[in-house]
Amino acid sequence: MSNLTDISYVKGVLNKHGFTFSKALGQNFLVNPSVCPKMAELSGCSDKVGVIEIGPGAGVLTNELAKKAYKVVAIELDNRLLPVLQETLSEHDNIKVVNADAMKLDLHALIAEEFEGHDVVICANLPYYITSPVIMRILEEKLPIKALTVMVQKEAADRICALPGTRESGAISAAVNYYSKPELLFKVSRGSFIPAPKVDSAVIRLDILEEPPVKIDDEKKFFRVVKAAFSQRRKTLPNSLSSGLSLPKAQVSSILESAGIKQNARAEEMSMQDFADITRALP
Ligand code: SAM
Repeated sequence: MSNLTDISYVKGVLNKHGFTFSKALGQNFLVNPSVCPKMAELSGCSDKVGVIEIGPGAGVLTNELAKKAYKVVAIELDNRLLPVLQETLSEHDNIKVVNADAMKLDLHALIAEEFEGHDVVICANLPYYITSPVIMRILEEKLPIKALTVMVQKEAADRICALPGTRESGAISAAVNYYSKPELLFKVSRGSFIPAPKVDSAVIRLDILEEPPVKIDDEKKFFRVVKAAFSQRRKTLPNSLSSGLSLPKAQVSSILESAGIKQNARAEEMSMQDFADITRALP
C-alpha cells in the first residue's frame, strides 16, 4: 500500500524507477507530511469540486487532493514521472494524469471536457521557473475557476499578495488584485523538499473575483499603464510612463494632473483606482 507521507516510501519508488531530479523543470518534491493535507484542505476542494493540479511530481499533493475532490486532473510535463504516478496513485479512481505542458494545454477545453457541471479549483506546488507566467495565464484567460492555491517561493508570494499602493507591490500585484483576492496562507521551510531549494516557500490562495475591483473599459490599456509604471519603479511616474508608453513627458504630466495624481508619485504608491484613472485619462 502506498504511503505518500512516508519520505522513505517516496524515495524508494523514485529510485525504483531510476528517477533523477531535473533542476530545469523546477523539481523540488514535498516531503513534509503536514504540508499537502493542509494545502488540500485550504484549496476549497470537496466531493462536488474538481481540481486541476499542475506538476504532480511523485503524487504527494495529488493523493491528498484526490481524497477530498470529486476528481483531479494532474498535468505533468515530465514523462519519466508517468510510471511513478501510476504506482503511487493506483489506489484512487478519480485521478487523471495528463502528460502535457501546462503553459500550452488548452485549459478552457480541459475544464469543459473533464468537469462539466462542477466548480473547479486549481492547486499546485508550482515549478519556480514558470510561477508568474502560469499565474498570469490562468488569470488573464479568465478560466471558470473559483480559486487558485499555489506554493511559490516566499519572496514571490510577498510580491504577488502585496496590495497596490504598498512598497512590496509590483505589476504582478496589480494584475493579481484586479482578477482576485490574494491571501498568503502559510510558510513552508526549504527543508520540506527534496532536493532542498535555496529559499523558503509559501502557499498562497487567489480567490477569483466575479467583478474586478475597479471599472475599466480597456483592460489591455490598463495593463500597459501598469507595466510601464513598474518598468522603472524607482523613477517618478512622468519618467516611467513617458518612456514605457512612448509619450512626451509633458503629455504624461498633464494626464497625471487630470487624474489628480501628484507629479513626483511612483508606481508603488498607486492604488488600483489611480491606475484606472490614469488609463481613463490617456488619449
Ligand atoms: N507536486 C509535486 C510536489 O509537491 O512534490 C512536485 C512539485 S515540483 C515543484 C514541480 C513539478 O512540475 C515537477 O513534477 C515538474 O516536472 C512539473 N513541471 C515542470 N514544468 C511543467 C510544465 N510546464 N507543465 C506541467 N508540469 C511541469
